[in-house]
Amino acid sequence: MEKWRRILRKSVTDAAELASRFDIPREEMDRIVSQFPVQITPYYLSLIKHKGDPLYRQVVPDVRELDESYLYQDPLAEDTHSPVPNIVHRYPDRCLFLISHVCASYCRFCTRKRKVGDSDKIKSSEIQRGIEYIKAHPEIRDVILSGGDPLLLEDSKLENIIKQVRQCEHVEIIRIGSRVPCFLPQRITSSLVRMLKKYHPLYINVHFNHPDELTPQAVEALAKLADAGIPLGNQTVLLKDVNDSPEVMKKLMQKLVRARVRPYYIYQADMVFGTEHFRTRVEKGLEIIKALRGWTSGLAVPYFVIDAPGGGGKIPILPEYVVSVTDQEIMLRNYKGEIFFYRQPQEGTKQQEAVPEFACPLARDEII
Ligand SMILES: *Cc1c(COP(=O)(O)O)cnc(C)c1O
Ligand code: SF4
Repeated sequence: MEKWRRILRKSVTDAAELASRFDIPREEMDRIVSQFPVQITPYYLSLIKHKGDPLYRQVVPDVRELDESYLYQDPLAEDTHSPVPNIVHRYPDRCLFLISHVCASYCRFCTRKRKVGDSDKIKSSEIQRGIEYIKAHPEIRDVILSGGDPLLLEDSKLENIIKQVRQCEHVEIIRIGSRVPCFLPQRITSSLVRMLKKYHPLYINVHFNHPDELTPQAVEALAKLADAGIPLGNQTVLLKDVNDSPEVMKKLMQKLVRARVRPYYIYQADMVFGTEHFRTRVEKGLEIIKALRGWTSGLAVPYFVIDAPGGGGKIPILPEYVVSVTDQEIMLRNYKGEIFFYRQPQEGTKQQEAVPEFACPLARDEII
């Protein structure tokens, strides 16, 4: 058995063990776990420093998960945008292809709780139906393999799927979404990477939520992927008491960029049943973007998005940098809150004498 499989097998999945380890009432733990299973790799468990820390909160069940008075099973209406099982086709030119129900560890805030953690393997006949759907839809030029975690499939099974998707002439790029580099970096083996690099252009989006997750092992796994020419992006979920502070997010984004991962999205937490305690106010995300843009490398600034409830897709939420727009000029606010003017091109009129475009308000008054 491969080393990563052995590590994965040693994951904590037992409610009793976890309850005694973290001093949680057993009955409470049983009730939560019967709704959404627990699994934590020994590697990730070893990174938890104490009960209630940001890594603990992501994977250890919390009694507040049982409070499901509102919020939804399927907040993004993925099931209604699913023409065949395991395909979510919402946007014109790309689709999700869910090829695994299992993950290395289970995030308590998971948007796909309703599907994930089901130990039943996805049937190969279902996978085949997904591939047939992609083949029959020439408008699909971007296929996102997701789940669960695609990288928990055996190399040969994964290759079999990627190869067939690659054979569709209209599929230009393949992406994989995976939290394995965070939860089980040992899975990123040389043979996996050798297989993946045969199917370029292939992108991987990873999922890190806290700077402490970027351990030397995780960074090494990311380096292997980057060395194989796989462009890496990161998706972070904004979570209360995990990463809802500009300082933590800045550190996370900077560590990612250093590991050759381009931060792609910060998601406002979806309205998933049993995750109310993870949700922040939307203003928090705006505050975080304001604290990043201009203050650190543009490469370290992702989009902050809300995946619209009901299936509207991802909508970017931006701090207000445009103060006003007229025929003559646009009034802008920079990252420090200072005001600047940019003059519009004046069609039909003679070129006026040059006005410095980055003039501060005072300088502008002098010129006029
Ligand atoms: C997120 C998502 C995508 C990919 O969106 P991008 O903005 O292109 O990364 C595609 N389909 C569905 C259903 C999604 O939720
Ligand atoms: S890794 Fe992704 S799919 Fe798996 S439990 Fe976490 S959020 Fe859900």
